[in-house]
Amino acid sequence: MEKDNNEFKLHIGILSSPGIGHIIPVLVLGKRLVAVHNVKVTVFVVTTAGSPTEAQLIKSSDMAENHLNIVEIPPVDISAFLDDNTKMVTQLCLLVRAALPGVRSALRGVNRRLDALIVDLFCTEALPVADELNLPKFVYVPSNAWFVALTVYCPVLDREIAGQYVDWEKPLGIPGCKPVRPEDVVDPMLDRNDQQYREYLGQGRGFTMSDGILMNTWEDVDPGSLKALRENETLRKVVSGPVYAVGPLTRDMEERDGFDGTIMQWLDKQPRESVLYVSFGSGGTLSAEQITELAWGLELSEQRFIWVVRPPSQCGSDKSFFTIGQGADGTPDYLPEGFLTRTHNQGLVVSMWAEQALILRHPSTGGFLSHCGWNSTLESITNGVPMIAWPLYAEQRQNATMLTEELGVAIRPAKLPTKEVVAREEVKTLVKTMVQYKEGKELRKRVQKLRISAEKALSTEGSSYNSMCVALNMIQKRRDLKLHIDA
Ligand code: UDP
Repeated sequence: MEKDNNEFKLHIGILSSPGIGHIIPVLVLGKRLVAVHNVKVTVFVVTTAGSPTEAQLIKSSDMAENHLNIVEIPPVDISAFLDDNTKMVTQLCLLVRAALPGVRSALRGVNRRLDALIVDLFCTEALPVADELNLPKFVYVPSNAWFVALTVYCPVLDREIAGQYVDWEKPLGIPGCKPVRPEDVVDPMLDRNDQQYREYLGQGRGFTMSDGILMNTWEDVDPGSLKALRENETLRKVVSGPVYAVGPLTRDMEERDGFDGTIMQWLDKQPRESVLYVSFGSGGTLSAEQITELAWGLELSEQRFIWVVRPPSQCGSDKSFFTIGQGADGTPDYLPEGFLTRTHNQGLVVSMWAEQALILRHPSTGGFLSHCGWNSTLESITNGVPMIAWPLYAEQRQNATMLTEELGVAIRPAKLPTKEVVAREEVKTLVKTMVQYKEGKELRKRVQKLRISAEKALSTEGSSYNSMCVALNMIQKRRDLKLHIDA
């Protein structure tokens, strides 16, 4: 039943950029604010034309039941500004920029006045609209503090470092944080001559223009970078506002009517922690050669698996970011000949998209070969599932390094999969290590500890719960002051 407007103490707008991987974390944040903090939330989504998955997600009953009010900003046509080489970050920024008039009128049009605006990391250009409406403004980065530190500090690196970062021989220093290896930099930093690098610099500056940065992380997982963002003198010169670790916020999916239960039924029949789940997020694809090697590696490992397969493209490409997730039926013809028949009793191949949150929650799932997108990473950790880190794009190389070298909850191939094809023998060893060997068991113990610390952080009076309360108190105070002045 709909709650009455007056039952909510605050009304917050959250603006999401397009793409499943961006909309999901915003909806999850919205749900948490409604369910746990009694805040009315209106989510504004910058939509793209012709993405049925986005539309489905937005309209899902799951959202309606959680009292989320969703406003779709009509799609804008940016085709005149695109060519074959336009990168994903540029596309996102162009889309959001072109949608700003729509965003402004949608924000003005809500029926109960907003008390604050939260924008996601690609929507910082909408922050001035919050100023026009005299609203406190926050940025929500559905990622970790190390990524935030790199992003806000990149404009400084831009002044201090000449040439391409990837040619730099030393790790890139971020004050107070673990340095970033040049090969691990986020995609937009790979080529400083590309427009997406300039967009990324703008994003970093945008984060610091807000009244606070909310992040989908928690104290135990990211202590060093959080401390640096709060206390390091040099870093505080670029980010002077508060930073809030409010995570890990993940999707809480239920099996519903109309849900195809084939995968769950198959998982039900497998032994506990025996299945490796293989998936590369909402937009990840592999080269044809890499698909072949991965298929052979899985088969040779003789371990159980569920593999979400997609047609080959350039390895690590993010070109399909806006369109993928649309279930394509039929047997994938790009897998090695006979693979499906030979692995019939060993694993399941799912075309394009699977209900990941449910698979990771299932007790038979024992490992996750993942592209290390932050949502996937959190879904894995909060279900106590260790990972094989296979980063492809965005900030995933940094995430993979954090998971393997700092948190010890993942193993990874010797070379970055974006640089070299991972051969079948190495895949086989990684898979066996994860599911069968002692090392996998150690990873599982560590990830279980993190799972428990995540639960604690989110519980009432936990660090992430408290952090959200601090941000909401700030909004409440601004609102009370405004009401006082208006009166
Ligand atoms: N996802 C899913 N099924 C799939 C692939 C992805 O449900 O087959 C969901 C996944 O659970 C996660 C999101 O899509 O919530 C992907 O976000 P992530 O940050 O991991 O990666 P991105 O898509 O942004 O690269």
